Amino acid sequence: MQMQGRQVLITGAASGMGRAGALAFAREGARLALVDIDGPGVEALAAGICDQGGHAVAIQRDLSDPARVRGLVAEAAGSLGGLNVLWNHAGINGPAFESLDLAGYDTMMAINLTATVVTCGEAVPLMRAAGGGAILLTSSVAGLVGSIQNPLYSAAKSALVGLAKSLAIRYAPDGIRVNAICPGPVDSPMLRALTEGERGREIGARLLASIPMGRLGRPEEIAEAALWLASDAASFVTGVALPVDGGVTAR
Ligand code: NAD
Repeated sequence: MQMQGRQVLITGAASGMGRAGALAFAREGARLALVDIDGPGVEALAAGICDQGGHAVAIQRDLSDPARVRGLVAEAAGSLGGLNVLWNHAGINGPAFESLDLAGYDTMMAINLTATVVTCGEAVPLMRAAGGGAILLTSSVAGLVGSIQNPLYSAAKSALVGLAKSLAIRYAPDGIRVNAICPGPVDSPMLRALTEGERGREIGARLLASIPMGRLGRPEEIAEAALWLASDAASFVTGVALPVDGGVTAR
């Protein structure tokens, strides 16, 4: 029970790795606020956790609107009675670089980066007052190395690594640890959408060929790494960008 009684907010919790993370944190005794644009999805997840004797509340929120992200941390902390862990996990793929789709770019940046800036900004004072906490940002291997497939997504995910490192050194004296997790290709609805159709199959084959372990990651494998980074087992770990990628970035 590494998370017994800890108050944990997870964004993008309804699906894929966020869902696996919610289940892993619940298994370890966390009290959860689960945020997603998919209201029914996150409500069903929270209800399932409560049915198993855990504690979870669902918050439906569109993180692409910064005005609606403001106050989210206070709402979650109010309902949980505080906040020990913030995991900013929600993210989407960006538009193609060549498209100059600036509306799509703005939406991607709002969800992947701006929402994280707002939630971190609101969580830090709470955690400082409480004597510490752990913040986790979901970046990507595309935040560590360039992405042929999606330069704009890579730009957002690289910014998250810079943010994690900067907040880590800024708030280390306050007992707040901040780390980024950098998944490689993981078998989730997001990846399945990317690898649909004829062109998608090519992308999928290229992705698979880039993984020394020769297989996609499972959402649960990312969840376990996130759990570790957020737990006291990682009490001397801050400011890292941890690849969980089957060896992709070791090449
Ligand atoms: P997913 O699509 O299964 O889950 C993403 C979740 O975010 C969904 O529940 C979705 O409803 C939610 N979401 C999307 N837009 C939202 C919005 N506007 N407001 C609130 N919630 C919103 O994807 P996943 O594969 O679990 O990926 C989640 C995170 O992992 C993202 O940050 C993604 O960039 C990152 N990532 C994924 C991979 C991969 O291969 N799947 C690799 C590296 C990093």
